[in-house]
Amino acid sequence: MNYKRSSALFVEAEKVIPGGVNSPVRAFKGVGGTPIFVKEAKGAYLYDEDDNRLIDYINSWGPMILGHAYKPVVDAVVEKAKKGTSFGMPTEIETKIAELAVSMVPNIDKIRFVNSGTEACMSAVRLARGFSGKDKIIKFAGCYHGHSDSFLIQAGSGASTFGTPNSPGVTKGTAKDTLLARYNDIENVTQLIEANKGEVACIIIEPVAGNMGCIPPKEGFLEALRALCDTHNILLIFDEVMTGFRLAKGGAQELLGIDADIVCFGKVIGGGLPVGAFAARDEIMNHLAPLGPVYQAGTLSGNPLAMAAGLAMLNELNKDTEVFSRLAQKTEYLHKGIAKVLNDNNIVHTINRVGSMISVHFDSSEVVDFETSAKGNNDTFKKFFHGMLDEGVYIAPSAFETWFITDALTYEDLDFTITAVDKVTNKETF
Ligand code: PLP
Repeated sequence: MNYKRSSALFVEAEKVIPGGVNSPVRAFKGVGGTPIFVKEAKGAYLYDEDDNRLIDYINSWGPMILGHAYKPVVDAVVEKAKKGTSFGMPTEIETKIAELAVSMVPNIDKIRFVNSGTEACMSAVRLARGFSGKDKIIKFAGCYHGHSDSFLIQAGSGASTFGTPNSPGVTKGTAKDTLLARYNDIENVTQLIEANKGEVACIIIEPVAGNMGCIPPKEGFLEALRALCDTHNILLIFDEVMTGFRLAKGGAQELLGIDADIVCFGKVIGGGLPVGAFAARDEIMNHLAPLGPVYQAGTLSGNPLAMAAGLAMLNELNKDTEVFSRLAQKTEYLHKGIAKVLNDNNIVHTINRVGSMISVHFDSSEVVDFETSAKGNNDTFKKFFHGMLDEGVYIAPSAFETWFITDALTYEDLDFTITAVDKVTNKETF
C-alpha cells in the first residue's frame, strides 16, 4: 500500500500539533511508522488520503457500532444543524435522549450529559465523593477512565502504550487518594479497603476491561465487588464508556446481571459526536447542582447536534432486537477463524472476547489483568499490525487495545480478515 499523502500530511501536522495528533493513541508510536490520515468512511470501511480502502476494527475507538456514516445518524445531525448548533439553553431533545437512555439501562433514574468519557468518569467520582463525604477511590491497574488527574495512575490504553501509566503533572496529593488494585483479584481489593477503613468513597471499574486488551471479569468477581461495596458503604461505579449500549441495551450491567451505583457512558451514546454521560438513581443524582451541592457544568453539554446523533443511534439500537446477538455472533465467528489460522500457523496466542469486543494477545498465558496483558509479545504485535495494514485491515496501533466489531461488517469482510491473518502469520519471518 502507498501512504505517500498520509506521510506528507503527518509532516505538516507535526509542525503545529504535538506529535501530529490530537490524542496520543492515534500516533503509531507503539508500532512504528506514521499514522494514516482518513479522508472518509462508510459502513465497515475507511478510505484514506491515498485512496486505500481499509476494513476498520477501531471504529473511532468504539462509537461507530453500526458502521460509519450511518444514515439515520447523519440525517439527524444534518437536520439539527440547520436549526442552530448550540444555544446553552435547555432543548427538548435532551429530555428525549435522557428518557430513552433511562429506559434502556436498568437501575438508573437520571442521567447528566457531558462532552466526553473523561468528563463522565471525573464527574462521577466527584459525585461519589460529594455523596459519601469520603475522599479515596479505588481503581484497577490497566483500566482507563480518561485523562483526568485521579485516573492517570497505572492507566491503560494510550498511557500504557507509551509507558506513561503515571503521568507527570499529577500531584502527589491527588495520587495519594487513588488506591490501585489488581483486576480480577478480590483479595487485593479487600486488603485495600481494610487498610483504608472508612475512607473509600468509591470503586471505579471497567466491568469488562477494554483498555489492556479485552479482559472479562472472572466469574464471581463483580458480584464479590458489589458485596464488598455494600458491606463497607462504598459506591460502585461502572465505567461503561466502552461497554455501554455495546454489550447489550443495558450494557455490561444487563449482560452480567450486576447493578452499579453510578454508571458512566461515552462513545456509542454520542453516535460519533463528542458525548459522555453519567447516571444513577435519584438519591445520588439529586446531589448534583443545581439540585444539590456537587458542582458540574458544561457550555456545550447537551449540545443539540450531539444529542441528535446520540438519540438517532440509541433509537436504532433500541428498536433492533437482534443487533447485540448479531454483533456477538460476528465476533465469535471472527474469534474462531483467527484462532484456527493462528493454531495452524503455530503462533502462540490468547484471544479474549466479550460480546462485540475482542483482542488478540501474542502470549500463551491467560490474560486476566494488566500484568498478564503486558506479557504479550510486543514485537510480534508490531509485525502483526503492519502486516494486517498491508492487507487492508486496520486494527488499533497498540497491543493494549480492543478491536470493536461493527454491525456493518459482513461475513465476507470477516473472511477477508481471517485470510489476512493467515497471510500475515504464515511466513517464515513472522
Ligand atoms: N473510560 C473508558 C472505559 C474508555 O475506554 C475511555 C476512552 O477510551 C474513557 C473512559 C475516556 O473517554 P474519552 O476519550 O471520551 O474522554
